Amino acid sequence: KDFRNDVPPNWCPGCGDFAVLAAMQRAFANLGLRPEQVAVVSGIGCSGRISGYIHTYGFHGTHGRALALAQGLKIANRDLVVVAAGGDGDGYAIGLNHTIHAIRRNMDITYLVMDNQIYGLTKGQTSPRSAMGFQTKSTPKGSIEAPLSPLMMALAAGGTFVAQGFSSDVNQLVSIIEAGIKHRGFAFINVFSPCVTFNKVNTYDWFRERVVPVETIEGYDPHDRKLAMQKLMETDGMLTGIIYQDPDSVAYEDRIPGFRKEPLVRQPLKPSREDFEALVAEFV
Ligand code: SF4
Repeated sequence: KDFRNDVPPNWCPGCGDFAVLAAMQRAFANLGLRPEQVAVVSGIGCSGRISGYIHTYGFHGTHGRALALAQGLKIANRDLVVVAAGGDGDGYAIGLNHTIHAIRRNMDITYLVMDNQIYGLTKGQTSPRSAMGFQTKSTPKGSIEAPLSPLMMALAAGGTFVAQGFSSDVNQLVSIIEAGIKHRGFAFINVFSPCVTFNKVNTYDWFRERVVPVETIEGYDPHDRKLAMQKLMETDGMLTGIIYQDPDSVAYEDRIPGFRKEPLVRQPLKPSREDFEALVAEFV
């Protein structure tokens, strides 16, 4: 049950992505999973390398398409634990449409976004998560765009599991990932994962001073979507923990009539005409 492999990450020392990798490995082990039961699918960016640094099935996909690939995998083999991962550029710029539709579709996938509020791999440009006034090579006079609020977006899109972690609190992140994998539906997890090389504003200390764990809010109820939205607005999106979970969530796969039979991947490659027609009939 060891999810480490022998590929050393080439992230910069101190990058928040190390903690996300460690948290994923611990969460998988805590859940008693075996490497062959898990597939990690990633997009492009520093964070996208994560699928190569973990001992599971892995797929390092194209920019912004991690969720398209992850959903295809899940449909083909719903017995796999499928975890998609990427950064804020990957998931909130080029891949945002996939993110929104995957959230509302509610397939049983866990999606981790390593949100460092900048493009790191291409050496520091403004991302959809960068604050107004943020100065980078692409916005030398400061960004004039409002940043995306990923958790409010996820709630508005009908998310059934919406959470946020911080690379500085690995224990909390492990428990969020475990809960996300156990959730019957799409688990959306934004992680504050500082880019120590190019983002000198949103540093570990910057986040430490601002994050508000939901456990510190008296009477917080993670099953109350309206309260979640209200507290996100009050904290400027800095809530951490499980912010909202629908206890009655039904995954997309469980809504497909007849889909409870053997996963597609285990069905014969060359079915008879009768088998083929029976299979097609499951989807009409
Ligand atoms: Fe991490 Fe930034 Fe270095 Fe990329 S450039 S590995 S995001 S610290």
